[in-house]
Amino acid sequence: MTAILRGDLVARELDDATRIEVERLRADGIDPSLAVVLVGEDPASEIYVRRKRLAAEAVGIRSIEHRLGAATSQQSLLALIATLNADPGIHGILVQLPLPPQIASDEVLGAITPHKDVDGFHPVNVGRLSTGTGGLIPCTPLGCMLLLDRVIADFRGLKAVVIGKSNIVGKPVAMLLLERECTVTITHIHTRGLPEIARTADIIVAAAGSPGLVRGDWVKPGAVLIDVGINRIAREDGKTVIVGDVAANECDHAAVLTPVPRGVGPMTIACLLRNTVQAARLALA
Ligand code: NAD
Repeated sequence: MTAILRGDLVARELDDATRIEVERLRADGIDPSLAVVLVGEDPASEIYVRRKRLAAEAVGIRSIEHRLGAATSQQSLLALIATLNADPGIHGILVQLPLPPQIASDEVLGAITPHKDVDGFHPVNVGRLSTGTGGLIPCTPLGCMLLLDRVIADFRGLKAVVIGKSNIVGKPVAMLLLERECTVTITHIHTRGLPEIARTADIIVAAAGSPGLVRGDWVKPGAVLIDVGINRIAREDGKTVIVGDVAANECDHAAVLTPVPRGVGPMTIACLLRNTVQAARLALA
């Protein structure tokens, strides 16, 4: 019987801790504030930004939205980032991705001052993660680790297979698992023999964006499965549903599985709020 590890429930507990931390910061004279920058009118981004604002407000974090038109130049976006960097009343800066094609995302993310980089995408934070020297950790990988912490006491020597090598999920989660002394294999679309590699894993983190990619016979009995995938698919009755990267109905022999939805997704937002509070604490130091 597989235990279903509900990220939404763990996220609620994290939010409770964040709320307490916000109150402590207020008592110390800091009003934790998150600036969210949205460029253009991508409908999915609109939804994500709204969710982040509501979640921030629910834990008492002030959230300030900056909405810029789709034709915004890189220069004007960089000017806004410079203003937010210099503003002592702003502790976290989040630029919602994707950005329109005239803007180089790397340059924009690299312009955010590292201690306000609550997404953890700045090269300094990426470097700190890979050297295990602190810094702000990307939200989805952090969420995966906090979920794993609920079910694994000692990671040392466990075999972890990460499916996907993106900068926002696959690579950072692999670094975090390595920090815990797992033996980590990072796989991707060109990996040969992925099912056999996956079958060796004690932990699988599936972040490929491919619905039902991880089949039951890819999974060793007793494995822990973290399903990061968010895939919108049309059902036969025409309804759109969200499914993960794991064929959950084939994985009864796994020890633990995170559901989709209500798995990693809510953890991502909870970790953004946690990072914002961490950034505000840094401002106090
Ligand atoms: P991405 O497209 O940037 O990267 C996907 C990675 O998966 C690539 O490295 C690619 O090589 C690999 N891949 C794709 N198909 C594969 C296959 N068939 N076999 C092996 N490897 C394959 O995606 P991303 O931004 O890392 O996101 C991955 C998934 O996670 C998406 O479904 C995305 O929606 C989801 N996601 C969820 C959250 C969350 O909060 N739950 C956050 C970020 C991303």
